[in-house]
Amino acid sequence: MTVNAPRGMPDILPGEIGRWHAVEARVRDFARRFGYREIRTPAVEHTEVFQRAVGSGTDIVDKEMYTFTDRGGRSLSLRAEGTAPVLRAFLEHNLGAGGLPVKLYYICPIFRYDRPQAGRYRQHTQFGAECIGAAEPAADADVLSLAVRLVQSLGLVRFEVHLSSVGDEVCRPGYTAVLREYYRPHLADLCEDCRRRFEVAPLRLLDCKREHDRRIARQAPRMLDHLCDPCRAHLNGVRAHLDAMGVAYTIDPLIVRGLDYYTRTAWEAVSETLGAQNVIFGGGRYDGLAGQLGGRPTPGVGFGMGLERLLLVLEQEGVALGGDPALDVYIATAGADATRALQLADRLRRAGIATDLEVTARGLRAQLKQADRLGARFALLLGEDEIRRGVATIREMATGAQDEAPLDALPDVLAARLRPEAIGKARG
Ligand SMILES: [Zn+2]
Ligand SMILES: [Zn+2]
Repeated sequence: MTVNAPRGMPDILPGEIGRWHAVEARVRDFARRFGYREIRTPAVEHTEVFQRAVGSGTDIVDKEMYTFTDRGGRSLSLRAEGTAPVLRAFLEHNLGAGGLPVKLYYICPIFRYDRPQAGRYRQHTQFGAECIGAAEPAADADVLSLAVRLVQSLGLVRFEVHLSSVGDEVCRPGYTAVLREYYRPHLADLCEDCRRRFEVAPLRLLDCKREHDRRIARQAPRMLDHLCDPCRAHLNGVRAHLDAMGVAYTIDPLIVRGLDYYTRTAWEAVSETLGAQNVIFGGGRYDGLAGQLGGRPTPGVGFGMGLERLLLVLEQEGVALGGDPALDVYIATAGADATRALQLADRLRRAGIATDLEVTARGLRAQLKQADRLGARFALLLGEDEIRRGVATIREMATGAQDEAPLDALPDVLAARLRPEAIGKARG
């Protein structure tokens, strides 16, 4: 009996990897263009990192984390969220000592025990960027524009950025009280989750997916009407910066970030081609997070972008991405021994030519079929006659055209025929 991968944790197979390489390369390029440096945190954290940052009463902490006790009796959890580990590392290594803000990005797997849906997995890959140590609206506009310009550069057109403010510790308590009073008469009609949210996290009442509860949410008092003056000025500042850069958005008062640590600016980019799971990236400001993790209060703003979902949207919009990295040369042994083929492969590879070779010594026809399957541009036929004369036959796979070249000259001859920029790189 064979064993399959865990549910919701798909393999990424060689045939799909070209698309991943293309997107990851673009992500790294844009992160660099915007002045972000990469950070890599471990796949597991002390469970407390997520409990403190995300908060109890959230689905993530209560239902979705992969938590286990290690052999030393410590409670650890697989990375359930991207920002908290980065802030944990920022505080632990005092990364702000060299001056603020510190701009960091990551591409890493996120683990959540959730019901798998289209573009949503129990292990998914997230690109995130965090600008830590700047409270000004310019930081919000800077990091949001990174996400927007990145997806636009990949060819994404049909999406909309929804922007809002979730207030801060000054104005949110007053709004929460108003919201509770609005919801109190509806309490008996709400779903079980909402009745729990009413007690522990009233803002999340606005986030319910049940149609009946959504209708009540649409009529609810809005945070945007209860912002204190500094929060209002901050939002207006962000808007002015985005307008000046030509980054389009719509104000959406129903944006509620699911996590406790969000303050002020919040946004979601919504695809018009996906169904219910339509958020391509989401983010906002989290000025309270460093304090919740036990550090000195430090403002921050950032976003997370699920790459599986991004690839799905790009596919649905018909955007072509990089193909499978192809092979330059396949050495068919045609009677020569494997040592000769290995020696030649070694020389070509050291010259930068992507080379595979026949190791099973099957018939020539089968070898050429294998070269074709691997997408090789050229096959080298290395038979006894060729070896005796010190040459190899070069066969162009697409046309079947053949000629010969001396073995010693092969690296140069092949390099000249392969487009120089294609050597060792992905084609297609
Ligand atoms: Zn509900
Ligand atoms: Zn406020």
